[in-house]
Amino acid sequence: MTSKTLDAFLNENLEDLKGKGLYNVIDPLESPNGPIIKLNGRELINLSSNNYLGLATDTRLKEAATEAIHKYGVGAGAVRTINGTLDIHVKLEEKLAEFKHTEAAIAYQSGFNCNMAAISAVMDKNDAILSDELNHASIIDGCRLSKAKIIRVNHSDMDDLREKAKEAKESGQYNKIMVITDGVFSMDGDIAKLPEIVEIAEEFDLITYVDDAHGSGVLGDGAGTVKHFGLSDKIDFQIGTLSKAIGVVGGYVAGKQQLIDWLKVRSRPFLFSTSLTPADVVASMRAIEILMESTELNEKLWDNANYLKAGLKKLGFDIGESETPITPCIIGDEVKTQEFSKKLNEEGVYAKSIVFPTVPKGTGRVRNMPSAAHTKEMLDQAIAIYEKVGRELGII
Ligand SMILES: *Cc1c(COP(=O)(O)O)cnc(C)c1O
Repeated sequence: MTSKTLDAFLNENLEDLKGKGLYNVIDPLESPNGPIIKLNGRELINLSSNNYLGLATDTRLKEAATEAIHKYGVGAGAVRTINGTLDIHVKLEEKLAEFKHTEAAIAYQSGFNCNMAAISAVMDKNDAILSDELNHASIIDGCRLSKAKIIRVNHSDMDDLREKAKEAKESGQYNKIMVITDGVFSMDGDIAKLPEIVEIAEEFDLITYVDDAHGSGVLGDGAGTVKHFGLSDKIDFQIGTLSKAIGVVGGYVAGKQQLIDWLKVRSRPFLFSTSLTPADVVASMRAIEILMESTELNEKLWDNANYLKAGLKKLGFDIGESETPITPCIIGDEVKTQEFSKKLNEEGVYAKSIVFPTVPKGTGRVRNMPSAAHTKEMLDQAIAIYEKVGRELGII
């Protein structure tokens, strides 16, 4: 017999979520995750993926992955330290270091895993971490795993960061102090104030850690937020994902050779979880080559993002203060936000509502993720649908 206690726990909590309208039903796509997706037999303009450059369905990546499968098979067969390191894993890491302008890089199975791996490989209970309050869930979990003291910093508030850094340093309580931030914040699309963060880090001898999941492929001509600010030699840890703009799956840490050497002997997801598949590795490598060869996709992405933003703003929508292609359309009330997203869907636009607890109460939004793969016609159609639904619901 299975546990009655567990049954009671699950029943109670699932019912509670459903009652509050917070239970998320997941829609399975019947098509690739491109600019147009198929859902329940209907085609929709997709404004929800992180596939910024359209690389998830790019023929060049598909061909590279297919070749890799023929040459190496479908699985790496072991963790990296036993015999799961294929020569292509090493090549991918060399390419990532080149892409990020660092001495070295190490690949993981996901961006989430990077944060599970890297923070606790360096930080422990005698240390402190200054963490932006809007940091991604995987950063928060990675910090917790390290057992270091977590000091929450008001979002992008440099006075607060300086004050807390000073206090932590002067207390003499901690061996090491780290400052950790998203490069681009995924719900609002604002960019971390890295020049000021680096300045404060230099003043108080902080370790710097930037998770650039939403910045790579997007900012700095594709090389990311750190490059965007010209700080490649000033950030200790640069985290990236291979699953957003790169279009595949996986994650990496880029930094000094010694840091990467240490992660290879001390980070647990590297030591105890099987490595990326050959198809993932080679497709990711191809994507990075494409990004380094040309800024064409990056320019297309920005062009489309600016076009969508201008269109929505002109209609009178509140699109927040995004500095990147991430385009929130802030509705406010949670129920209305969900209704808005549902109506968009009925009219042919797939854009997800994001509400509390992912964002603060009363700031419910529909988040739009334009990509390089959208055509102007698709965006025009999406804007027209926004206008129709916005008027129907009295939002504009
Ligand atoms: C999306 C995201 C991740 C997770 O990346 P995956 O490769 O999907 O696991 C980690 N950190 C940040 C900041 C993210 O936005």
